[in-house]
Amino acid sequence: MIKKVLIANRGEIAVRILRACKDLGIQTVAIHSTADSDAMHVRLADESVCVGPPQPRESYLNIPSVISAACVSGADAIHPGFGFLSENSTFSHMLEEHGLIFIGPKADHIAMMGDKITAKKTFANLGLSTVPGSDGAVTNIQKALKIANEIGYPVLVKAAGGGGGRGMKVAHTEADFAEAYETARREAGVAFGNDSVYLEKYLSNPRHIEFQIMVDKFGNYVHLGERDCSLQRRNQKIWEEALSTVLTDDIRESLGRKVADAAGKLGYLGVGTLEFLYENEKFYFIEMNTRIQVEHPITEMITGVDIVREQILIASGKKLSVTQDEVKFRGHAIECRINAENPETFFPSSGVVSNYHCPGGPGIRVDSALYSGCKVLPYYDSLIAKLIVYANDRNQCLARLQRALNEYVIDGIDTLLPLHLKLASNQDIISGNFDIHFLERFNREAI
Ligand code: ADP
Repeated sequence: MIKKVLIANRGEIAVRILRACKDLGIQTVAIHSTADSDAMHVRLADESVCVGPPQPRESYLNIPSVISAACVSGADAIHPGFGFLSENSTFSHMLEEHGLIFIGPKADHIAMMGDKITAKKTFANLGLSTVPGSDGAVTNIQKALKIANEIGYPVLVKAAGGGGGRGMKVAHTEADFAEAYETARREAGVAFGNDSVYLEKYLSNPRHIEFQIMVDKFGNYVHLGERDCSLQRRNQKIWEEALSTVLTDDIRESLGRKVADAAGKLGYLGVGTLEFLYENEKFYFIEMNTRIQVEHPITEMITGVDIVREQILIASGKKLSVTQDEVKFRGHAIECRINAENPETFFPSSGVVSNYHCPGGPGIRVDSALYSGCKVLPYYDSLIAKLIVYANDRNQCLARLQRALNEYVIDGIDTLLPLHLKLASNQDIISGNFDIHFLERFNREAI
């Protein structure tokens, strides 16, 4: 069993991982930049090591510093959380060379899924349907235009190495295509160091539905049902629900098994998420995330499975704690991402949290690293807290969500709390009538 974990992350996810370690009696080592020395994850860890200056590439992304911190602190494993080094196959390879356990999948699978073209091909070969589009990368404008005309507009130009909602450009007509193609390529080259792009039909009103899976080294695998992450701004999720209101039990059962079987056949190890777009009763696989997801708590609330604990147990060579027959779904859960952003323009906000009051009571879970007086820094991701609400059914869940949002106080910076309050009382959201474009329309109408 793993005895000491270095958590190669910060903010709410570092605190979340730390809690799972403590529950398992595992020692924890936090890493931090010079700007984060007072951060909550540092305060709660058994030990901490400063790994560099504020800029992520000099600290949280600095592989030699992170590995040295693990070696000097005597950690036997590293949990990467999400973002930062979590999907870096070179990093996971290097840990192996240093005799350290990477709490995550095999390096080959990280690399495979990091290239969305390979990921699509892999799962298409394993029997999942994918969004209609180009067969692999498109490398010159003439050929790309021909394929786009065949697919039919609107067409999405997507970066093979894209992530975090970046690296996508829509061409609404043939006249738009050349610009979308060139811009996507150029931006992908700069942002991801890989200018490979591919084409997909741009679906007009899909839901984003994703399945959580877990696989151990004995070849046991389960799915934990789906999450509906359709409420997004700039292709990034801000509100997630489990389960989805649009899936029947039969569809969940059959697709869930298909997805888990595919991961099992692949010889995947650890936890992962297969993402789909769902439109006109059809599912289209878009990508797989080979790490813990931001929105994992809603699945934990409705299944009772601690997914971070499972990650650590799997990496320790243990069996999954549940079989598929033991996975039961109870009630409904919603997560609101509380980003430090202006709720109308989404412009990032930073500063000191002058006053902090966290909601509580039945069904409320808050995953955050905030406290009164803490600094929200401009160098890092704007996600500062997650409000997770659970109830027996969706209506009760929405009522509790409104109650919790009204109680929540984060003074001193802009946050998405006012936007979530509006969404929680919106008639379309209450009746479950939304798709991935809902928030764009909602914001346009609000302005
Ligand atoms: P990322 O890795 O950047 O998160 P994804 O491929 O997971 O990228 O897509 C993120 C979001 O972008 C999806 O949830 C969806 O809202 C939108 N999107 C992606 N592909 C399509 C498509 N073919 N048609 C319409 N929207 C899409």
